[in-house]
Amino acid sequence: MIEGSCHCGSARWTLAELPASVNACNCTACRRYGVLWAYGWQGENITVSGETVPYVRGDSLSFNFCPKCGCVTHWRALQPDKEGRRRIAVNLRMTEPGLVADLPVDHFDGLGKWEHLPKDGRCVKDMWF
Ligand SMILES: [Zn+2]
Repeated sequence: MIEGSCHCGSARWTLAELPASVNACNCTACRRYGVLWAYGWQGENITVSGETVPYVRGDSLSFNFCPKCGCVTHWRALQPDKEGRRRIAVNLRMTEPGLVADLPVDHFDGLGKWEHLPKDGRCVKDMWF
């Protein structure tokens, strides 16, 4: 299990397992936040705790941030899916850098084509430190 928290510690998440890769997205929101996402399902492999404020984007999800220190901790689907599961993703920038340094970065073109770009072999440590 890995854990993350905002800078002041008010908001926290847990992720059951280290993901196989992380996702960087260039959409109008993610590029501003500078986030690295790992995906899951709320209450299954991801839990969140503490106080966060939602920024609702469109009709499908909210970005959630700490009202004290401003860190974006996760996004979450506004509604559960047909099976009653709720999609959620955590911002891996909220955890210790060494834990995720060697994970490959997947690039999602959320600004243009809305599809994954070819893998380029770069890991988190190649782009962030
Ligand atoms: Zn905080």
